[in-house]
Amino acid sequence: MSRNAESTAFRSALEVIRAVEPRVADAIGAELTDQRESLKLIASENYASPATLLAMGNWFSDKYAEGTVGRRFYAGCQNVDTVEALAAEHARELFGAAHAYVQPHSGIDANLVAFWAVLADRVESPALKKAQVRQVNDLSEADWFALRRELGNQRMLGMSLDAGGHLTHGFRPNISGKMFDQRSYGTDPATGLIDYDRVAEAAREFKPLILVGGYSAYPRKVNFRILREIADSVGATFMVDMAHFAGLVAGKVFTGDFDPVPHAHIVTTTTHKSLRGPRGGMVLCQPELADQVDRGCPMVLGGPLPHVMAAKAVALAEARRPDFADYAQRIVDNAQALAEGLLSRGATLVTGGTDNHLVLIDVSGYGLTGRQAEQALLDSGIVTNRNSVPQDPNGAWYTSGIRIGTPALTTRGLGTAEMDQTAELIHTVLTQTTAGANADGTPSKAKYTLDPGLADKVARQATDLLATYPLYPGIDLS
Ligand code: PLP
Repeated sequence: MSRNAESTAFRSALEVIRAVEPRVADAIGAELTDQRESLKLIASENYASPATLLAMGNWFSDKYAEGTVGRRFYAGCQNVDTVEALAAEHARELFGAAHAYVQPHSGIDANLVAFWAVLADRVESPALKKAQVRQVNDLSEADWFALRRELGNQRMLGMSLDAGGHLTHGFRPNISGKMFDQRSYGTDPATGLIDYDRVAEAAREFKPLILVGGYSAYPRKVNFRILREIADSVGATFMVDMAHFAGLVAGKVFTGDFDPVPHAHIVTTTTHKSLRGPRGGMVLCQPELADQVDRGCPMVLGGPLPHVMAAKAVALAEARRPDFADYAQRIVDNAQALAEGLLSRGATLVTGGTDNHLVLIDVSGYGLTGRQAEQALLDSGIVTNRNSVPQDPNGAWYTSGIRIGTPALTTRGLGTAEMDQTAELIHTVLTQTTAGANADGTPSKAKYTLDPGLADKVARQATDLLATYPLYPGIDLS
């Protein structure tokens, strides 16, 4: 496919947009420039292909398609059926899943669909059963009261936020922590690793309905076979949220015990992180949960986004190509090179390294909070995000960690040598940044000082590092 075609497509699209609201066209162009110029180390971001991006910008966006393929609440969905079926087929083939539901609009939505499906499948409630077989009008007020009490008293055991779990894995301020009676498992304070014996102990004591595996900020492999055994031993449904590492599963870097799909009853994911697709979510499940999962829309979700499902089909087709496995392996090689580069310069890393796409730096070793480190790095052209570390004394807002990840830079083509240079830039900024003080002289968790000359110098070095690896080389908007 010619590079010219990509330039023409995006230039024409911007011309059409500019004729209506030039400021939107300008912002879209500016976003490309910003993304091209920044050293993006945000572990949850990536760059989708031009084909994936283009699949989203069309009249599929106009179509309502509540329901599932072939069973819609709206007429005229034959073309939506085509793209939804294609996306689901690619997902099933790519991950070896029995069933794929590609409608969730995001990772959180996919998790809500999964919770709904498990509750509907597992909760022994005559009232719920009646409500599901459309005898809703036969339910008395007492039935409804019993139903709410039964659904609202179920138990979830997930990884705690500061150990690397996600908000939706039972974090109390999140809806998951409110709709479920929740408990969390953490990591071993000495090693930072999941202690499976402790998880088993917590499961035996708590007897959850759902055991959740998966994470946003845990830099190691997880043994899903063991977690499934733990779930089975207490009769729990085993759910894995692979939002962060779906690309490593798709690319067969995580196989056997480390591939969640054969072990979990239900797997959720985003499609836009390491999987490199459009912004969205997806649920994979065993056949017995398929019917409930397919009720996601309209029971949990708003109308499906056909343009995004089209883009999911394109991205999943890309992920089935042999070169995606090479990409996935390079993500991990790069993360390990970045970790080595930081360790050799004296940084402290949670768990001492990485097996996946992310590295968690404990910046308290530099005398900084995550907030100070994040901002100082941003001043220097390095985009990261602050993150809690296990047992974080600075809480979830200021934090003591910086999470960095390699999916995006690997997409641009940077390799292990550039990761060492990146480690040097990060270490330079963090060693040269000093924590500031509040007006009353107490230590500030937000203020810091960094010589602007040094920040500019690092930003120029970061730009030089990226110059050899242009982002979207086939797109010229000039
Ligand atoms: N699950 C995990 C593990 C995540 O890391 C995230 C995103 O940060 C989500 C779910 C939510 O994804 P989304 O932002 O698409 O709702």
